[in-house]
Amino acid sequence: MSHSGADFFDAGALVGVLTTQPIDRVLDYKAPEGGCHLGAFVEVPLGPRKVAGVVWGPGKGDYDRAKIRSVNRVLDVAPMRDEMRQFLIRAGEYTLTPLSAMLRLATRAPGLGDPPSMQKIYRRGDGTPDRATEARARVLAALEDYGGLAFTLKELGELAGVTSSVVKGLVKQGVVLEEDTPRDTPFPRLDPGYGGTTLSPDQAHAAGTLCTQIKSHSFAATLLRGVTGSGKTEVYLEAVAETLRQRRQALVLLPEIALTPEFLTRMQARFGTRPAEWHSGATMTERRRIWKMVGQGGCDVVVGARSALFLPFRDLGLIVVDEEHDTSYKQEDGVLYNARDMAVLRASLNAAQVVLASATPSLETWANAEAGKYTRLDLTSRFGAAVMPELRAIDMRAETLPANRWISPALRGAVNARIERGEQALLFLNRRGYAPVTICRACGHQVGCPHCDARMVEHRFLKRLMCHQCGETQPLPEACPSCEVAGKMAPVGPGVERLAEEAAEAFPDAKIATLSSDMFGSARALKAQIAEIAEGDTDIVIGTQLVAKGHNFPRLTLVGVIDADLGLQGSDLRAAERTFQLMRQVAGRAGRVEAQGTALLQTFQPEHPVIRAILSGDEEGFWRAEAAERQAAGVPPFGRMAGLILSSTDMQEAFDIGTLLARNDGPMRAVGAQVFGPAPAPVARVRGRHRVRLLVKAPKGIALQAALAKWIAPVRGSAQFRLAVDIDPQSFY
Ligand code: ADP
Ligand code: ZN
Repeated sequence: MSHSGADFFDAGALVGVLTTQPIDRVLDYKAPEGGCHLGAFVEVPLGPRKVAGVVWGPGKGDYDRAKIRSVNRVLDVAPMRDEMRQFLIRAGEYTLTPLSAMLRLATRAPGLGDPPSMQKIYRRGDGTPDRATEARARVLAALEDYGGLAFTLKELGELAGVTSSVVKGLVKQGVVLEEDTPRDTPFPRLDPGYGGTTLSPDQAHAAGTLCTQIKSHSFAATLLRGVTGSGKTEVYLEAVAETLRQRRQALVLLPEIALTPEFLTRMQARFGTRPAEWHSGATMTERRRIWKMVGQGGCDVVVGARSALFLPFRDLGLIVVDEEHDTSYKQEDGVLYNARDMAVLRASLNAAQVVLASATPSLETWANAEAGKYTRLDLTSRFGAAVMPELRAIDMRAETLPANRWISPALRGAVNARIERGEQALLFLNRRGYAPVTICRACGHQVGCPHCDARMVEHRFLKRLMCHQCGETQPLPEACPSCEVAGKMAPVGPGVERLAEEAAEAFPDAKIATLSSDMFGSARALKAQIAEIAEGDTDIVIGTQLVAKGHNFPRLTLVGVIDADLGLQGSDLRAAERTFQLMRQVAGRAGRVEAQGTALLQTFQPEHPVIRAILSGDEEGFWRAEAAERQAAGVPPFGRMAGLILSSTDMQEAFDIGTLLARNDGPMRAVGAQVFGPAPAPVARVRGRHRVRLLVKAPKGIALQAALAKWIAPVRGSAQFRLAVDIDPQSFY
């Protein structure tokens, strides 16, 4: 970068610095000794403190020049690139989020300004070992494979499959050199030519199209659709390979839970080494290394959960959003953004390609492809055996079941048949815990959360009641909290834990494993359990939606959906879509590899259009029907929606402000939008805060954000009051 022109500020020049502090303006400072670049990360004095910030542009000069302080120092990290600043600005405008909060999202790594600490790294020296063992040969081969690159002890050990003592032995003889270097070292390069398979014709066509687009160094969005097992991953890994050949960087976004060792091993098999992993379990050191290295070009590929989207890539050429329909891409706390939509925005600003992969795309993405905004690539057949699972309904009206039992005789028979053949069966119920409701049989009282309007869910595994809204837990009560009669508390309805209990009774000789997010202390423990199930001798897997997310259970040939009607109820705009996706996704698990699988759906409404669409396998039909209904109603993706969530410890205040907003809806009416509410939010109290909701419905193509900003600008509340804007609300909570 040149030291002149509009992107450099000489010492003493006025610069505007954006900090991560919740001050909604860019502050003026004097450029430090030696000057600074536009986008430089700096440390500035703010009152008595030192805070981090980014040089956002020239100073405004509207502040008493004598009082303006100097930037303390420029941090030793790559300056923020122009497209990243544009991304934060645009994403902030879209979600109505202050820039300081956007900058916090983009700097989620600690100690960025710290001088780098040291660590030991290992590289090839001269000579040969005194004694050539197989383990030693592997170490040398690994080092030679990467010609000259150095590794940490841990990396080298993993790469060569040896213990650290083998490496240390080689160090003693000078065959391997040990050196001190700054800790944040570049990642080993991924090799696009390392692995790869022969693609089927439709896979090859899809990969070819993507590679051509990547070579053009321009923006385009592509929907990559295909049933589970059709080779979507195989295809997008080819796109990653082409991106590497173009010497650009790739980001693969996965729902947090799909970031499995299995997936990373697959990357390793394809590229010879593991990519950088960005997820909630990553240590602070790992995060800082990734953050710095993507900025300096020392990291080619990041596989990560949604927040990886805010990493400062130097030259991002490809973003893959796998399982693009997954609801976990919508951040529901703090900055309310949808990582899938932001990925499209980021790609467009980076002249990058974005690939949205799914077996069951969201209606938004499907409609964008229909409208020709996205390229659509379909993988039509499963790789190898082109068998779809057989899908059948079990009509629960015709089944006889005793009270508090949920596995129908028909399903039970099917499970037994699999166990006899040494295959796996999966029982799916999208309800965590033991029982969704705990009721007192003496007075009828249902135990509710003391902070929320949600009911407490019994978790027998934890021996506690838990609120799924706020996480509040309490011991199982012996006596009713209302009438104080003891010994009358009873669970009502099934959760996975209760289903597991029933399964243990129904299949006494089977080995059963239960998978539910709250049964594991960490994502790692959960992943280990999943790997064990995939490889081990489990006969029956019982799980919540966790199991629907891209894990491969090779011996699985039967999926039993305990309550296919669950998602059909409720007022959520996307309820039908969700049910459809979930069923297809789960059904896609059965018979993933060889034998034809079967999915059995227990339902009380076998004639319901959603259940029928699932059973008939007519996906396009389902989407067209659902699209027509939404178009008629003018709702997303054919209209716009936004939610306002007003919350306060004082219910009256939230309602009063809501009423005032509804009455003064001029700015919204001016753009043709309608305001509904205020109404108590579906869960009207969370963590002791009362929540009131306004819903905005607007035609497409209007300046919705600008109107919203104008509408809410006059709102003033107490210190307890909060207002959150949720653009394109996903869940109606
Ligand atoms: P999806 O991502 O659509 O679920 P995958 O890419 O995971 O599908 O493919 C499913 C399985 O089939 C994987 O085990 C994968 O390795 C294998 N597979 C897919 N395509 C090929 C191919 N062309 N050659 C060999 N194996 C393949
Ligand atoms: Zn609660």
